[in-house]
Amino acid sequence: MRAFYHPEQAGHDPLQYMRFGRVVMPKDLPERTARLLGALDRHGIAPEEPGYAGMAPILAVHDAGYIDFLETAWDEWQQLPEAERGPEVWPATFPYWSGRPEQPTRGPCPASGFLGRLGWYLGDMSVPMREASWPSIRRSAMTAIAGADAVAGGEPAAYALCRPSGHHARADRGSGFCYLNNSAIAAERLRSRFARVAVLDIDVHHGDGTQQIFYHRPDVLTVSVHADPSNFYPFYTGYAGERGTGAGEGANLNLPLAPGSGGDAMLAAIATAAEAIKAHGTEALVLALGFDAHAADPIGALTLQAADFEAAARAIRALGLPTLLVQEGGYAIEVIGDCLDAFLTGFR
Ligand SMILES: [Zn+2]
Repeated sequence: MRAFYHPEQAGHDPLQYMRFGRVVMPKDLPERTARLLGALDRHGIAPEEPGYAGMAPILAVHDAGYIDFLETAWDEWQQLPEAERGPEVWPATFPYWSGRPEQPTRGPCPASGFLGRLGWYLGDMSVPMREASWPSIRRSAMTAIAGADAVAGGEPAAYALCRPSGHHARADRGSGFCYLNNSAIAAERLRSRFARVAVLDIDVHHGDGTQQIFYHRPDVLTVSVHADPSNFYPFYTGYAGERGTGAGEGANLNLPLAPGSGGDAMLAAIATAAEAIKAHGTEALVLALGFDAHAADPIGALTLQAADFEAAARAIRALGLPTLLVQEGGYAIEVIGDCLDAFLTGFR
């Protein structure tokens, strides 16, 4: 199996985020990439560095104003008074926004000044940015694009070691440790070769950004298996009643699991997802592969063990589809390598 990763993706090194009313240590540590690379090495897989595919594949799913913001946020932050500004770009105000799943991009930000755009484009306090953030974010998307191109070129499967993750990023907003939606960018890229694509997301958190990006479209099915969002991030979407809208009606499926659910519940949900993926006429699959459903995850809500990812991989492999694996979350540093190791064992 071909795999993709660029060392620049480890440059993003956030200092903080806010949880339970406290500024705490970040969870998306650069060391995550080292653990995942270790698992690839145990399988004899040497990742290739992605080339630079330009901005067009990113702008195919993201709003141009948002991308302009991400590109220049660090430089604009430097214009704030030195004695008063913090060590990283961090929003403090947020716009009123309905949060309804059928709401598409919001149009241009009404505020032209930096602080207004900061609150508009960074949707919560888990997406700080430092000097190396944008280069990492962009490289992470290039890794997804390279993986998609490999699958579009005939590879039966490829793994994109994306970091930062992407599935919470909406067309015009970053949140939940995510800035560019790597899985959505890859799915859109695969559409150039395959008429019908599906994204299956098994990260413990609902893939709200991916859902939003394709919510109006019939050609890309989005399916997410995740912990029930009624008391769990991202809270406002991820419910079973969200089925898509307009031409996309029926092309979104959410399979929320009760908090504390384990491998059996995950496998049952994947079986349901598999039926929907077949019924869609899917020709290629993007698997948004998070490992934060593991019982040891510090911000998780489910109780999977590493071996459960092996079983999940077998079920997904049985679909027999060209498949791009896109790395999403997973914050238990001591187990994420074992999770990828188990997944690859089941998948290959
Ligand atoms: Zn997650």
